[in-house]
Amino acid sequence: MLREALEGRAPNRKGWVRANCPWCEDRIGKPDRKQCLGFNAISGRWHCFRCGIGGRTDVDEEQVLLFDEEAIKAERVVMEPPESFMPLYEEPGWSSWEGHVPRAYLRGRGIDDDLGFDAGIGACYEGRAKKRVVVPIFAADQKTWMGWSGRAWFPGARQKYLYPTGMDREALLYKHDALLIESDDPVFVVEGVFDALAFWPDAVAVLGKPSEGQIEALIVAKRPVVVALDGDAWREGDALALRLRFEGQRAGALRLPPGKDPDEMVDWVRAEGRKSL
Ligand SMILES: [Zn+2]
Repeated sequence: MLREALEGRAPNRKGWVRANCPWCEDRIGKPDRKQCLGFNAISGRWHCFRCGIGGRTDVDEEQVLLFDEEAIKAERVVMEPPESFMPLYEEPGWSSWEGHVPRAYLRGRGIDDDLGFDAGIGACYEGRAKKRVVVPIFAADQKTWMGWSGRAWFPGARQKYLYPTGMDREALLYKHDALLIESDDPVFVVEGVFDALAFWPDAVAVLGKPSEGQIEALIVAKRPVVVALDGDAWREGDALALRLRFEGQRAGALRLPPGKDPDEMVDWVRAEGRKSL
């Protein structure tokens, strides 16, 4: 199906090919006419920012030969777990002594062992993501890494959050599959992965501010959408909910107090979320 969808399309310099996603109709009930599927002929990674399906295929010679080899070398981005990544809630990380500090940090942020396991959270002790807990961002197959978010567990880090080079934040949603569950219970739209973890499994994170591609995915969600951005972004939240309603989605927005994030007031957000619809 992937091959047919991509037939006859020319990739750009970075190896990306866009096409209408052949899975959208099955997954969200509406065909894709906006070329939401991206396939990277260099890495073999592919992903639809509308229905969230994605994974990785083997790239054959023929595909690679379509490109200028120099360009390929320059742009080659392989999205893998960061160097020294160790899962914290399964072996060998589970019983390693180094795991105590990051697990304690996570517990302090309300992430218990079951949630940590379900979300595949790990930690790094060396390399670029050293001393960070790493939350993987998976494709729909729940195993292909599309990216990750690394949070420093020590105070005073110059960059609290770290993302991998080459990760297309605007084309990804953390926990995209939450949009595909048919339900009257709302899904919450939050900014960061830790906010989404606090509402697990009922939230997606936009990893910053909502992008056009992400909004496309929210429009076709199979459940009502409650926008719960950080307290200082309530205007953007209101505008987003308005836009979603205009597009026919059931949507509401919450105004959190200034300086507050949704993971600091989970019960309030859950209760008010329903009322906002
Ligand atoms: Zn799709």
